[in-house]
Amino acid sequence: MKKLKHIIDNGIYLLRLMRSCSVKTFYLMLIQIPVKVLFPFLGILLSQMVVRVLTESGDPQELIAGIVIIGGLLITGGVLDQYTAGSLQIMMSMVQSGLEERIMENEITADYEELEQKSKSGIFEEAMDYIWRNNSFIPRSAENMVELFSGLFGFLLYAVVLSELHIGILMIIIGTTLVSFLFADLGAKERRKMGWNIATRYITKLHEVSSQPKAGKDIRLYRMGSWFEEKFQDYLTQSRRNFHGKIARKNFKSGWIDAVMRVVRDGVSYGYLIWILYQRRIGAADFVLMTGAVAGFSEWVTKIAVQLANTGQMSAEISVIRECLKEKRSGEETIPSADWKLELDEIVFDHVFYRYPGSDRYVLRDISFTVKKGEKLALVGMNGAGKTTCVKLLCGLFAPTAGRILVNGRDVSEYGRREYYRLFSTVFQDSAVLPVSIMENVAQNRESIDADRVKDCIEKAGLKQKVESLPQGYDTLLVPELNSSGITLSGGQMQRVMLARAIYKGASALILDEPTAALDPIAENRIYMEYNRLVNGKISVFISHRLASTHFCDNILLLQNGEIREAGTHEELMAINGEYARMFALQSYYYQENMG
Ligand code: ADP
Repeated sequence: MKKLKHIIDNGIYLLRLMRSCSVKTFYLMLIQIPVKVLFPFLGILLSQMVVRVLTESGDPQELIAGIVIIGGLLITGGVLDQYTAGSLQIMMSMVQSGLEERIMENEITADYEELEQKSKSGIFEEAMDYIWRNNSFIPRSAENMVELFSGLFGFLLYAVVLSELHIGILMIIIGTTLVSFLFADLGAKERRKMGWNIATRYITKLHEVSSQPKAGKDIRLYRMGSWFEEKFQDYLTQSRRNFHGKIARKNFKSGWIDAVMRVVRDGVSYGYLIWILYQRRIGAADFVLMTGAVAGFSEWVTKIAVQLANTGQMSAEISVIRECLKEKRSGEETIPSADWKLELDEIVFDHVFYRYPGSDRYVLRDISFTVKKGEKLALVGMNGAGKTTCVKLLCGLFAPTAGRILVNGRDVSEYGRREYYRLFSTVFQDSAVLPVSIMENVAQNRESIDADRVKDCIEKAGLKQKVESLPQGYDTLLVPELNSSGITLSGGQMQRVMLARAIYKGASALILDEPTAALDPIAENRIYMEYNRLVNGKISVFISHRLASTHFCDNILLLQNGEIREAGTHEELMAINGEYARMFALQSYYYQENMG
């Protein structure tokens, strides 16, 4: 019962989605249903009429009139069917694009925390797989609905025509049909039970990885090719065993049961009709009508069974797509955007705890600090200490599991996300470059670009010489995979573009999350010092695992296993001669050794 409610709920959701993308699609689908039911029925009526006139009145005029009327209706029905089917195909592509757009929009606007989770669970890939599989999701689901409803209406119409038959015969027809139906979706049930198959996910992922030059280097140099092939073979075998084995066996069983039921159904009903014709309880014309109706009835019944099985599968697919489109918004945004200024005076972490969704391990524990306008904060510590997580909380990408983050005295969750994000210029280690020009990448828009400012920022980021040496200068396109004339910048140069982008945005807080990891320590130190000069009067947060890069900061927090181990200025931390001092000494020894 719950399952049925779920299927109906998903069906209504789909119809609403179609109607919101294209109202015409919705009406075309509605027209198709009676056309699909009445079209074959008119054919049976025509045969009945011909036999009746020939065996009873024998009036040629009546015959011609009947043929003209029913024939006319048949032609009209045929044209209508073709027209609606053709128009539907065009409309469907609109609805399909609408759905894809919504998923894309959701990927862009969803809470970042949710995006990370969804991306990890592979739900976006799964939804896109359903959306593109077998002639696309929308045409498939629309066909499923039209066929299911025409099956149901056809069933009712033919049941009325056959109502004069012995009730036992009708029961046998319905009974055998139900058996067919009950066993019809064994394969689909099996598929649902397995869920989004893990082997299929691995196959997709292995394909993705092996086609990327990034992994291609390692695969070749570390001779991982045969390992990849072996894994691929394993998963292919698993997938074959699951899908083509288990599901095919179940489908075979369903098909076999259905065939037996058909033989029983047709044998009993046709046998009975011949019997009552022989006894002259019905005339030849009604015999023709009823044999046609019995054959049609079985067709409708089979159609209902098949479509119900498909409906279960479609419903499971809709659930995944709905999950993808579901938006979770964290916190109550209560401050109207017009009411607050784009200036940061103070950020306070007040006993903040954080654990990633689905994990029971806190990666940040009891973090408290304050950073005020004009101050420079450094977060240092080994890899995995929790620095990036801290920054993501600070920028509003994640919400604390416990504790509070106060910005200008108010809880972060009270600010609207879009406006809040405007407060931060960030450079992460793994920032994305867009497939547009260097100029547009820095300005992050295409319309109102201040070209002089872009050039100035590129210069400040230390990339002027390189960009100006390119034949197309600032108009050089990036991401060669998407632009045939695009170029690939080195990791360090790319980071400088990102740095220029952050300077261009000129937000109230500037955050560098080890963007210089691709650079050598001396270059990193230089960039951090230059950046230090650029950010006067703002809040800036520097993250690094190289302690020498952040020694100029007003406050340095040494994170260890998600906790603040030591805090103070460089001098203070050196003076207490604790973990910071130990790491600093170790690192300078190492760098001197390697550079000396
Ligand atoms: P750092 O920036 O200091 O290198 P991170 O903040 O990236 O450290 O990571 C802190 C801890 O959180 C690590 O143990 C890491 O494994 C874990 N972690 C990071 N991202 C995720 C995630 N998306 N899901 C679960 N755990 C994560």
